[in-house]
Amino acid sequence: MKVAILSRNRNLYSTRRLVEAAQARGHEAHVIDTLRCYMNMATHRPTIHYKGKELEGFDAVIPRIGASITFYGTAVVRQFEMMGVFTLNESVAISRSRDKLRSLQLLSRKGIGMPVTGFAHSPDEIPDLIDMVGGAPLVIKLLEGTQGIGVVLAETRKVAESVIEAFLGLKANILIQEYIAEAGGADIRCLVVGDKVVAAMKRQAKAGEFRSNLHRGGTASLIKISPEERSMAVRAAKIMGLNVAGVDLIRSNHGPLVMEVNSSPGLEGIEAASGKDIAGMIYSFIEKRLQEGNTSNRTVGKG
Ligand code: ADP
Ligand code: MG
Repeated sequence: MKVAILSRNRNLYSTRRLVEAAQARGHEAHVIDTLRCYMNMATHRPTIHYKGKELEGFDAVIPRIGASITFYGTAVVRQFEMMGVFTLNESVAISRSRDKLRSLQLLSRKGIGMPVTGFAHSPDEIPDLIDMVGGAPLVIKLLEGTQGIGVVLAETRKVAESVIEAFLGLKANILIQEYIAEAGGADIRCLVVGDKVVAAMKRQAKAGEFRSNLHRGGTASLIKISPEERSMAVRAAKIMGLNVAGVDLIRSNHGPLVMEVNSSPGLEGIEAASGKDIAGMIYSFIEKRLQEGNTSNRTVGKG
């Protein structure tokens, strides 16, 4: 098959692995710089051009859309959908996963456990907002932050009040969340492909840090997850409409909680920790869907 890997940088580990794994399986993979695609909305024949030529004959698209280009990136993915090309993750699902508030509302509606979370726009009732999530310490998050940037631990009520006030004063969209202290700076990244968790790793924050993101100096190790955690991760990905997702769980005193669902999970940490060929598993999934003729974009047009 002929696959387009939408990625801004062919030297990134995940992109390189996706190219390698395609070649190992006899597929033709093209790395396409998302921002250099331009499109034509023609009613009967939507097209995408790239570096002066029309993109033609693709069987599948693997979107690797960075958080900073979600808007344009999802438009490119949507255009492939309009052309009838199978996209590993659909544009609506990617947009959804990029908005923490929308994602958490959707997951909570479907009964997925998560830390107690509040959000507000007006800075008028901050004390009550803080009480709503159980008081300090609490975590404050910028809605569109990523890689741990924009996630703040407010250890006291006073700090929480002034940080929330500052963010809202800047018109930043934030949510505030119960701090799961018992997680000890660790969380679990579950890599979901289709209806399976194909690998899981524990990420431990470096000393003096509560954010376990590898970009923030966290370290990864292999971990065995419980059946409950496994099914929670698979359900969360399904609710988001993602075929491939990195579902982050945190272990609390009252069981596992979902913290977030990522639509372009990095492969480096999880392949290193698990020793598994995750890129290959992604192609197995695509091959199966193409063989079954099951390439419909289920959520096109839905929010
Ligand atoms: P990002 O999208 O920037 O990765 P996250 O919501 O995943 O933001 O938060 C980053 C990290 O901070 C998490 O991986 C986790 O280690 C820690 N963290 C986030 N929220 C909480 C919380 N409510 N309680 C404890 N730790 C948290
Ligand atoms: Mg995260």
